[in-house]
Formats: sequence, C-alpha cells, structure tokens
Amino acid sequence: MESDKRARVEAWLRYGADLELGPYYRDRVASNVVVETSQAVGAQLSEQPQAPIADAVRAASASSSFSLSPTTPAPTASARSSASAPFAQAPSLFEASDRIAGDTFQLIRETIGDCTRCKLHKARTNIVFGVGSMKAELVFVGEGPGHDEDIKGEPFVGRAGKLLTQMIEAMGLRREDVYICNVVKCRPPENRLPEKDEITTCSPFLFRQIDVIRPKVICCLGSCASQTLLQTTQGISRFRGEWFDFRGSKLIATYHPAYLLRNPNAKGEVWKDLQKVMTVLGLQPKRK
Ligand code: URA
Repeated sequence: MESDKRARVEAWLRYGADLELGPYYRDRVASNVVVETSQAVGAQLSEQPQAPIADAVRAASASSSFSLSPTTPAPTASARSSASAPFAQAPSLFEASDRIAGDTFQLIRETIGDCTRCKLHKARTNIVFGVGSMKAELVFVGEGPGHDEDIKGEPFVGRAGKLLTQMIEAMGLRREDVYICNVVKCRPPENRLPEKDEITTCSPFLFRQIDVIRPKVICCLGSCASQTLLQTTQGISRFRGEWFDFRGSKLIATYHPAYLLRNPNAKGEVWKDLQKVMTVLGLQPKRK
C-alpha cells in the first residue's frame, strides 16, 4: 500500500479506536445486529475530503441519499427505518458510532475524557457536556459554549440561556424536563463559529447523546446545529419551522436565542416553531 494511503488508513483506525468502535464491529459481526439508517451523517463525511477517514467512508456510504426535504409532521417511531446489515455493508463510521449497543452518558463522558482532539481544548475552562433529563422527549441543540457556559460547565446559562429557559417555561416545561447540549463541547475563542474540523471531531459525541436519549423531538437552535444535523449548507431561514427526520426523532430548526436578543422581532416566528413542537408533544402553554 502506498505510504500516504497507509497513513490515512492508520489514522482512520486510530479514530475508530478513539471512538471505541471496536465492540460495535465485534458485536455486529457476531450477531448481525439491526442497524437504523442515518444517511444524513454518512453524507457529512463524504463532503469532507480532508478528514482522514473520508475516503474509506465515502466508499462505504456511497448510497447516502439524504436530502433536505421536509417530512410530514406525524412520524416518530414509524419514521425509523431499519435493515439487517452485515459487516461488509457497514454504512459509515459515523453511522456506526451512532449505534453503540448499550451506550450510556457515562461511557460517552468517559470517552471524551480530558479531550484534546481539536484545538478548542487549548482555551477551554470546562468541557460542557450537556444538562437535563436523559429521558427527555425534547432535546435542544445549540452551537457551542460561550464564556458563561465555559466557566460553569453547563450549556445555556448566559443571556441567551436565560432566554432559552423562558422559552422552555413558556412551553409549559422546566429546564430539567428537557435535555440541552451543543454541537461542540468546548468554547470557541471569542465566541467565533465552530470550524468544520471541530464540528467533525465533536459531533459524534452529540449523536451518541441523542441516540441514548432517543427524544421525540430535537429542536436545533440556529444555523450551526441545524446545518450539522441536517447536513446542509442552506441558510436556516430556508427550512426553519419545517419537520425533518433525524434517526427516528422529529427535528425542527428555529432561530438561536442569541439571534433573538439582537432581533426581538423574530420572537414571533420562534414561538410559532415552539408551538409546533408543543403540538407534537401534547403540551399546553404555561398559564400567565
Ligand atoms: N449559545 C450556544 O449555542 N450554546 C450555549 O451553550 C450557550 C450559548
């Protein structure tokens, strides 16, 4: 094998080992487990030629057919498609990482460890893993920790977080009823957007968290979260308020609370999106 190819394959194997995928493949070979499809994630890697695993993944996930077309508002469990997949047809490393049998938050947190996988670790104070109920029917996904979150180690505790808490309470819920997390778990310096390599490195842990929770609804807050989960570069205003399927959960994107702080006129649009979520979850708005 040519040396650059060998280096890339070795990097891929190291990456897989880092995500603790060995048991997944071993169990999969032994039991021919049922694997749920998540083409969106396969598509992400095939768009990232710089990723060490990209070539191998591209070969494995050439059949990815996810497109950004809205689903009808009804399906939850019925939207899950499953297929018996032998090892040779493994769809992609990311899809594999999504489906670790017996995965738990504790395992995910232990795997993250004192992470130095991307450059965001250099300036962080705390890894911001996520907060809320592991049995939540509703998961909010933001972009990445800001200053206050970095200090406290908890997502959405600053000004935008207070607004998110108000939004949650307006829906008739408490913060502890939902789960709140971010695409990246370390603060991007100067609150810049997370970069592609940082998202690629960190998002498998988010996907694992979502897979452990299996929420009815995922609400993406802002472009970063929605573009990452939906694997699109389209602007959020093109698809905000529409329903999508994300590995068996219903996904809706709305504007980020930080955007609402700058553009309070958009609050009405966000409230409409949250009302759609409430309808699916059977929630009544909080009485004033
Ligand atoms: N903005 C985010 O996207 N996430 C946080 O945790 C805080 C602010």
